[in-house]
Amino acid sequence: MSQISQMGQTARNVTDIPDVTLILSGRYLIASSRSRDVQEQENISVAVASDRIVEIGPNLADKYPQAKCISHAHGLIMPGLINTHTHAAMACFRGLADDLPLMEWLQEHIFPREAQLTAEIVYQSTLLSLCEMIKSGTTSFNDMYLFAKDVARAAHASGMRAWLGEVVYDFPSPNYGELENGLRYTEELFDLYAGHELITVTVNPHSVYTCSPALLERLAAQAEERDTLYHIHLAENQDEVNTCMERYNCSPVQHLENLGLLNKRVVAAHGVMLTEEEAFLLARQKVKIAHCPESNMKLASGVAPVPAMLKQGITVGLGTDGCASNNDVDMFGEMNSAAKMHKVMQMDPTVMHAAETLHVATQGGATLLGAEKEIGMLAVGKKADLIMLDMDQPHLTPVYNPISHLVYAAGGGDVIHSVINGQVVMQDRQIITLDEKAIIAKMKEIGERVRNMK
Ligand SMILES: [Zn+2]
Repeated sequence: MSQISQMGQTARNVTDIPDVTLILSGRYLIASSRSRDVQEQENISVAVASDRIVEIGPNLADKYPQAKCISHAHGLIMPGLINTHTHAAMACFRGLADDLPLMEWLQEHIFPREAQLTAEIVYQSTLLSLCEMIKSGTTSFNDMYLFAKDVARAAHASGMRAWLGEVVYDFPSPNYGELENGLRYTEELFDLYAGHELITVTVNPHSVYTCSPALLERLAAQAEERDTLYHIHLAENQDEVNTCMERYNCSPVQHLENLGLLNKRVVAAHGVMLTEEEAFLLARQKVKIAHCPESNMKLASGVAPVPAMLKQGITVGLGTDGCASNNDVDMFGEMNSAAKMHKVMQMDPTVMHAAETLHVATQGGATLLGAEKEIGMLAVGKKADLIMLDMDQPHLTPVYNPISHLVYAAGGGDVIHSVINGQVVMQDRQIITLDEKAIIAKMKEIGERVRNMK
């Protein structure tokens, strides 16, 4: 009897030993933005088995000698950053038209060129943006764009975790043509990526000023049926509010509320033009906000009341927006801008402190995407989405408070290694999953084509 139970115990123990495949080892570990989750210790390590974190502690490379070990004596290990609103393929428009008002920029420069985009341009431009995202510490992104099947194809190739969907509006699309085809295209996208490990398909109405009430409602029904996010630009600037007032005699937020469309599925990009009552309404309806401070500053859209939203318990994530209005997808830069924008806006240096800003860029983003159980912090059982920074650099020395450095001193170029879903996607700043040189060469050709588009 005892022998049998002993054998059983042994067998169970054998299967309990995780098959550790990867160890990341450094000097600092930031498991989350809470100060008690920050550790400084020699050889502080994270052990990964398959796609998950199975152990965190010192000297795990000694404990699991069979595992691949990536270490840096001055490395800082942290959760990968989560970009909650972008249009990755807009990398092909970077620097093409700057210093213009949003509507003029969109209608005279972006929309006419977008009308000439092809699947190939979107695929290549998304690959370029993915290279930039990986090299600056992003491990998840939430994308809204045309030719979403090609965005998904690029995301799949890169190993990046992605939420993405086809942007839909009333006018014909260069991708799917008439609107009815757009709804069908999105259905096909859902079917293509059903059960994909890293890609989640979402429903993407462009905005209240480009989508009729009927279209907004149809897309909401689609999001409900597919149990996914409803990702929309909302209350971005004064022009949007004015257009909405003229057409519907109410603000963009009130318009969605009148249609019965504000709910927990809604990821609202921007949320700049909000009254206090509207912020309360968004909190009550559990709408999430993707805050894009650099795009809002560059287009002079305004300042989203993020500190107030956070106080009200609204889930806020950080986003870069497309890199034609940013002009990069570096989430370290975005954290820096977010922290400073709200301080100067409120003339109060205590708001959006470093830990709160890091929280928004990690766990806030994970919660916004409904993935807070899986990503956004480092803990045993979570998905292995993590990055390492090299802290042995002039601008990061000395280290009193690592979180301060991440928000106020570090940049995307300090990220040396990146792991997504347990897969090493970058080591020593070399992207493993994509051919960066070939992608840059191809983009130079595409740039010439975009320049010549009339
Ligand atoms: Zn946007």
